[in-house]
Amino acid sequence: MGHEASRLATCPLCARLDDPTAALRVCELRESVVFLHEHQRYEGWCVLVLKDHAVHLAALPMPRQVRLWEDVSQVASAITRAFAPARINYECLGNVVGHVHWHVIPRYTEPADPDPRATVWVRPAAERDCGVSVDRAAELIGKLRGAGLG
Ligand SMILES: [Zn+2]
Repeated sequence: MGHEASRLATCPLCARLDDPTAALRVCELRESVVFLHEHQRYEGWCVLVLKDHAVHLAALPMPRQVRLWEDVSQVASAITRAFAPARINYECLGNVVGHVHWHVIPRYTEPADPDPRATVWVRPAAERDCGVSVDRAAELIGKLRGAGLG
C-alpha cells in the first residue's frame, strides 16, 4: 500500500494484524483489516482494525480517515445485506485498546436484542460476551463474504 505498516510489540491488535491466519479474520480493506467480533450476541458484529498502530483517529491525515470511513461503510453495507438488522451502531472508542479500531454493531429488535435503545456496553458482560463457536463463526463470516466482503 505504499508504506511500511508500523507495529507496537505490546499491542494486541498489532499482533492480530501480523497473523494472516488469525481466527475470525474476514478480509482486508484499504485502511483496515476486518474481523468478526469474538462475541456474537449481536449477530454480525464486526471490528475494523487500522493497518498501522495509531492511537488517535483525529491524528491520522484526513485522506486516511476518509478511506477508513469508506471501509466502515462497506462493512455496514455487507452487514445490512447479510443480517438485515434494525439499525447499526458505529463506535470508535479506544478506551481499552489504544489502537484505532471501529466497532460496527448490528442492532435488532427484542428479544434478540435485549435493550435496543441502549449501547451494548451497558449490558451485563455475562450476557454480551457470549463468545462464538468455530462453526458459527465460519457460518457468519461466510454470510459476510457472500454479501460482498472479501
Ligand atoms: Zn497496535
